Amino acid sequence: MTDERPPYRRILLKVSGEVLMGDAAFGIDMATLETVARDIAQVVAHGFELCLVIGGGNLFRGVSMAGRGMERASADYMGMLATVMNALALQSALEKEGVHTRVQSAIPMDAVCEPYIRRRALRHLEKGRVVIFAAGLGAPFFTTDTPAALRAAEMGCHALLKGTSVDGVYTADPKIDPTAKRYERLSYQEVLAQNLRVMDASAISLMRDNAIPIVVFSIREPGNLLRVVKGGGVYTTIEETA
Ligand code: UDP
Repeated sequence: MTDERPPYRRILLKVSGEVLMGDAAFGIDMATLETVARDIAQVVAHGFELCLVIGGGNLFRGVSMAGRGMERASADYMGMLATVMNALALQSALEKEGVHTRVQSAIPMDAVCEPYIRRRALRHLEKGRVVIFAAGLGAPFFTTDTPAALRAAEMGCHALLKGTSVDGVYTADPKIDPTAKRYERLSYQEVLAQNLRVMDASAISLMRDNAIPIVVFSIREPGNLLRVVKGGGVYTTIEETA
């Protein structure tokens, strides 16, 4: 799909931890990590300002450990630490591509990365650095969707891109139902009312309140990120529709 949508200059890209597993069932696949880093480097080279929020589901997911008897809050803190590990992995891969990055964590850990400081993060962006936000909100009972939306609003991003393993939002799971159709465009309200599992409801409503479009696309296809930020490629946009 191509449209006349102007390119979003400052972007927050949310990458779910699961993307980093590649075809494995757990952990970080180095080849996939390098591919994602190359795609991000390409976008930075084209002059886009980029913030990243990375999930932790490839390493640890609080809710599933809580299901097996661990206290939910403790399990969620472990999940947040998993996002820090992914952030460091991505930082290292990006620096190999020559991209300057800073990791900022919502849970201060001075020996590892910077603490989250909004004004400092803005300054990094202005200097052309990629800022990777780690440890979510620093609070349990959330996934990384809500911190992705919050940071997008705080950083004045023009769009929140959600990089997944599917190329948009479908009427049903396309891996299970071959008749599933991809939506080109949806309103925030449609996503909330139909309970389409795109992102957590708190993230969707934060984007609605701040009129920041959400673009869902596949990050597993090399080169796709650049196509999407330039307005081409295949994706679903969630925004206010007239
Ligand atoms: N998490 C949390 N608060 C946050 C962000 C993350 O408690 O603000 C925890 C939560 O346990 C979550 C885990 O970190 O399951 C990893 O994040 P997520 O599930 O969003 O990873 P993804 O699905 O994107 O890989």
